[in-house]
Amino acid sequence: MTETTVIPHWIDGARRPSTSGRTAPVYNPATGQVQAQVALADQAEIDEAIASAQRGYEIWSEYSIAKRQTVLFNFRELLNARKPELAKIITAEHGKVVSDAMGEILRGQEVVELATGFPHLIKGAFSENASTGIDVYSIKQPLGVVGIISPFNFPAMVPMWFFPIAIAAGNSVVVKPSEKDPSAALWMAELWKEAGLPDGVFTVLNGDKLAVDGLLNAPEVQSISFVGSTPIAQYIYETASKNGKRVQALGGAKNHMLVLPDADLDLVADQAINAGYGAAGERCMAISVVLAVEPVADELIAKIVERIGKLNIGNGASSPEPDMGPVITDVHRDKITGYIDIAEADGATIVVDGRNFSVDGHEEGFFVGPTLIDNIPTTSRAYTEEIFGPVLEVVRVKSFDEGVELINSGQFGNGTAIFTNDGGAARRFQREIQVGMIGINVPIPVPVAYHSFGGWKASLFGDAKAYGVHGFEFFTREKAVTSRWLDPATHGGINLGFPQND
Ligand code: NAD
Repeated sequence: MTETTVIPHWIDGARRPSTSGRTAPVYNPATGQVQAQVALADQAEIDEAIASAQRGYEIWSEYSIAKRQTVLFNFRELLNARKPELAKIITAEHGKVVSDAMGEILRGQEVVELATGFPHLIKGAFSENASTGIDVYSIKQPLGVVGIISPFNFPAMVPMWFFPIAIAAGNSVVVKPSEKDPSAALWMAELWKEAGLPDGVFTVLNGDKLAVDGLLNAPEVQSISFVGSTPIAQYIYETASKNGKRVQALGGAKNHMLVLPDADLDLVADQAINAGYGAAGERCMAISVVLAVEPVADELIAKIVERIGKLNIGNGASSPEPDMGPVITDVHRDKITGYIDIAEADGATIVVDGRNFSVDGHEEGFFVGPTLIDNIPTTSRAYTEEIFGPVLEVVRVKSFDEGVELINSGQFGNGTAIFTNDGGAARRFQREIQVGMIGINVPIPVPVAYHSFGGWKASLFGDAKAYGVHGFEFFTREKAVTSRWLDPATHGGINLGFPQND
């Protein structure tokens, strides 16, 4: 791709070049170069995408379960065979190392595999003879056109948290990818076409706030699945709800790891490195804060520092592969380093400083070095807010209770982890912590596809989590049917009373 390449939409089963005249740059974060422009939809393109999705829904929702299942299996096979291509696309636009890009595809593929078993999960229920001669049953039907709005950090996995289940259930989807790395969605659209999905069932609408607002305001769009930062998640939740849509809006995070004094500190240090610096900390389930229950902090910090010294940072596409790549943009890099400045100004100790970090041969790339901050005041904005970069903060606490209280007092409730060999403490943690996803000696507890993904508090607006049983509930709506087939021998009589179960 060249800078003049304009990444189009995918409408009606084909690439649809934009005529809006509006674009945004797509960078290669490792080199800092603009490698393409992405189309930003105008209202006419938004309307065209939604109209095509509505037509797609009308066709697709008439497909039998067996036919829909065949298309899903085809998509799964194609994805499984060709995922290395997708991983390279993700690395080129996002910057994460190729093996990590493969990791996100695999986690998305899990949801595709779950969705292939959808007939069992969208079955209704039947109660024979609920009242004399009366049967009651429920059926689950698709919603129609559903909108999916995704963040930059998982350009393949996050859309795959939603669309396999939405499509399996008979809906058509309009995906609005992040404008920072839009090509993964387009690649998956082409794969659906090859898998035999009818045109209009999978649409990619590239754009910015205008495209998002277009989806939020269109009466044809029945639901919104959003993943991104908390302020936007809240806006999406409020606007979509006001417009009568079903909505799930997953927001930001600030995940803590509570380390009890009995924990194996080598294991903890390894996991803090993996969960803190993997994908340059741009994961909503990254560990951002190590809560060290004294007296372990000094020893643990020494072990983390030793491991940071061995990390190799570079272009995620190079071979041999580095451990960590760049962050998404220069603006985001400056935001991250700005938080390190705030921590320092607020009196924290910068143990390892990732500011002013550069990689030989990639001086223009958007790199931040792995950063370790000790004694971060819990009143500092660098502690209370999400940084979303390779920055680990250490808070020294005196007890398990102090650690739990600190975690529960934060605005977010996405993920958390406890490291201990004490089963009783782990069990108390699991019961008392106000967080949606918990790891016990597991640092990034992203649930498997058949359990649902979602946080509490400012990390999720709405009732439904992503995928798993919640996913099937979200993308179907139920009808209850009460039916009587008259027995010619017994029917008849007028009764104006309220129906009773006699
Ligand atoms: P973002 O909120 O900036 O963008 C997300 C999406 O919203 C994008 O498609 C973007 O185009 C759109 N958007 C941005 N500003 C908008 C506006 N003013 N009005 C309407 N739409 C707008 O998030 P991001 O920077 O792409 O992603 C990182 C964030 O996502 C982090 O906060 C991270 O924690 C969060 N995240 C959360 C989860 C989770 O499961 N809870 C998962 C991944 C990422």
